[in-house]
Amino acid sequence: MIELLKRYFGYDEFRPLQSEIVDAVMDGSDTLVVMPTGGGKSLCYQLPALGLPGITLVVSPLIALMKDQVDALKANGVPAECLNSGMSGEEQSRVQIKTRRGELKLLYVAPERIARPGFQRFLESIELSLIAVDEAHCISQWGHEFRPDYRNLRQLRHITPETPVIALTATATQRVRDDIVAQLDMKSPSVYTGSINRPNLRYAVFPNTGKYDTLVERLRRRQGSSAIVYRGSQKGCDELAADLTEEGFKSLPYHAGLGSEIRQRNQDRFVRDQVDVIVATVAFGMGIDKPDIRLVAHYDMPGSIERYYQESGRAGRDGLSSDCIVFYGAQDREREMFFIGRMESDLERESAQSKLDAMVSYCQTGACRRAALLRYFGEEPSEESCDSCDVCEAETFDATIISQKILSAVIRTGERFGATHVSQVLTGRRVKSVVERGHDSLSVFGIADDYTAKSLREIMATLVGRGLLARSDSQYPTLSVTPQGRRFLKERENIELPVLESTKRVLRDSKAELDYDNDLFQKLRELRTRLASERGVPPYVVFGDVSLREMAHYYPQSEASLLKINGVGRVKLNDFGDEFLATIRDYAEPKSIPDGAAMASPNAAKEPRRSQNGNSSRKSRMGSSIEKTHDLLREGLPFQEVVNRRGLADSTISSHIEWLIESGDLKDYERYLPAESDLKRITHAFDTLGDERLRPVHEALDGEVAYWKLRLARAHRRKRKVAQ
Ligand code: ADP
Ligand code: MG
Repeated sequence: MIELLKRYFGYDEFRPLQSEIVDAVMDGSDTLVVMPTGGGKSLCYQLPALGLPGITLVVSPLIALMKDQVDALKANGVPAECLNSGMSGEEQSRVQIKTRRGELKLLYVAPERIARPGFQRFLESIELSLIAVDEAHCISQWGHEFRPDYRNLRQLRHITPETPVIALTATATQRVRDDIVAQLDMKSPSVYTGSINRPNLRYAVFPNTGKYDTLVERLRRRQGSSAIVYRGSQKGCDELAADLTEEGFKSLPYHAGLGSEIRQRNQDRFVRDQVDVIVATVAFGMGIDKPDIRLVAHYDMPGSIERYYQESGRAGRDGLSSDCIVFYGAQDREREMFFIGRMESDLERESAQSKLDAMVSYCQTGACRRAALLRYFGEEPSEESCDSCDVCEAETFDATIISQKILSAVIRTGERFGATHVSQVLTGRRVKSVVERGHDSLSVFGIADDYTAKSLREIMATLVGRGLLARSDSQYPTLSVTPQGRRFLKERENIELPVLESTKRVLRDSKAELDYDNDLFQKLRELRTRLASERGVPPYVVFGDVSLREMAHYYPQSEASLLKINGVGRVKLNDFGDEFLATIRDYAEPKSIPDGAAMASPNAAKEPRRSQNGNSSRKSRMGSSIEKTHDLLREGLPFQEVVNRRGLADSTISSHIEWLIESGDLKDYERYLPAESDLKRITHAFDTLGDERLRPVHEALDGEVAYWKLRLARAHRRKRKVAQ
């Protein structure tokens, strides 16, 4: 099989589960495959088709898709054809003749054809080795894409009860899976469920503010490759597509309002790379097997994670790194709420509401986005941090103090309020709701006024994600402190949080702030207070903090230099100049600090830094999972086999190996390294680009070397460095 794989498809290795599935199919068992988009499901029947004596009948829902697949197979030298209503009678009988003669290995048909008596007779006249049902969830009315024609497949089973079936789908709840098995009358099927994780997809969420610019910037980064931008409305699609065209992107809209001809044409142009960007409603996507979509952007947040996962999943089918971004703002929630409000049944409304809530919390979470997606679908992530979502990649800052303040405020206000109220208390807003409850006299009132209310709310969302706070599941969610949160306070634990968009602003501001001589600043403040009280005015009327800080930074000792200070005008110079200059001179002269000397900054604001996980904490985090991988490695299994057996992503296994190499636990690892020639190129790239981040290296090598190989090469390199 591996030979056929190489010969026909040109691949060296199987993707996870492919090899087991192919074996099961070759053994003649009925098989159900649930694997994410881009998982490589087609190969699971295409490869057996080549190895089996007769023909494989493939049932596929869309003519366009069928045609593309057949073309792709033919291009690989695999004898395949399709039968569909778009073909002339002559063409159809030509295909039937070829089939009868045994010249074909795969025959693609649409489900409606199966009901035709003529076609059923035809089937009885050929040697059928395997039936493959692609997009098998279409058979179930519990699925989201029910196609009544798929029910014809039952008849097919009656005609050829002995022929094994393989059913494949990317999305199936347990209920749908059971339904597929029942409807297709599958006999003790082998069921293969791949991880729904898409390791090559990078997830990020952006605020709605400035989203057009963000989108344009993202598209620029990926200019010349394909992108889908999803929008909530047809009008929005038209407008955005026009704007992007003006911006210099080749883009077209796609939505139900366009009429089927234009829609088809726009889709074709996209698939053929004649346009790069398609701006579409949900109507777009089914039937697009385009493997090289590098960006899927949701310009308007979708109403459920199901939809988000499916639509964003259209990116990067070919396994190369691609971006999935979604824009989010309170308006998105309101828009979806509006639709939900118009739903007829209570049940429907409730279900839609909880789906929406989940989507919103995906956007708001401060924890790993990938982990959030996996958990939503009931899969336990192998790592809490994926290194390829905006949260995991974000710079972190020491959030210990602000987190303590937040938790304290939640407790002091009685754990009965939501994030908005708590943030108002923390920032010291004397709004009615705060004053009415006397919360302005709490010790926590105003203790976080250096943060914006928005950034506090984001941090609270993150703390919910980290399990320190809990949010109630009600219409007006309230916050409470979890036992873990109480321990955090009691034990005075430290916490690092990602720098999110709004906290970034806070940090940026404080970073942009001037460092100043605090002793001098205090003296100037005293002076300010004195002068202000002499005049019966508030201190800031004399000089604001900005002015004082600048004075405490530049040490102005002449009128000319004092005038340069922010906030020092002619009048104030006249009124206060002498006093301030005297104070500064008294301070500076004994220290021989010259006039206008900018202060050297010994304790400049700390750079936010990436969190550094020491190896020890990392091991305990991955713990037994690493050990399981280690066992397989000790057996000497090839990398791909280890990946398959563990059912984990390449990236996970390679990070296990990386850890094992660096910790010295794995000695004989040479066989897992890339080939010598590759290793040279990689090492060279690390030498010039550094080895902290893999992406630049990956890109420098034109994306030709998989991340997992880079990771192992890096571990090897580091290990050798230590040894030298
Ligand atoms: P799915 O139907 O699960 O969404 P496809 O069968 O369309 O996925 O495969 C997605 C992409 O992965 C295709 O471009 C295919 O050529 C590629 N692919 C499948 N199997 C392998 C493999 N073993 N090695 C490399 N590429 C593969
Ligand atoms: Mg497919």
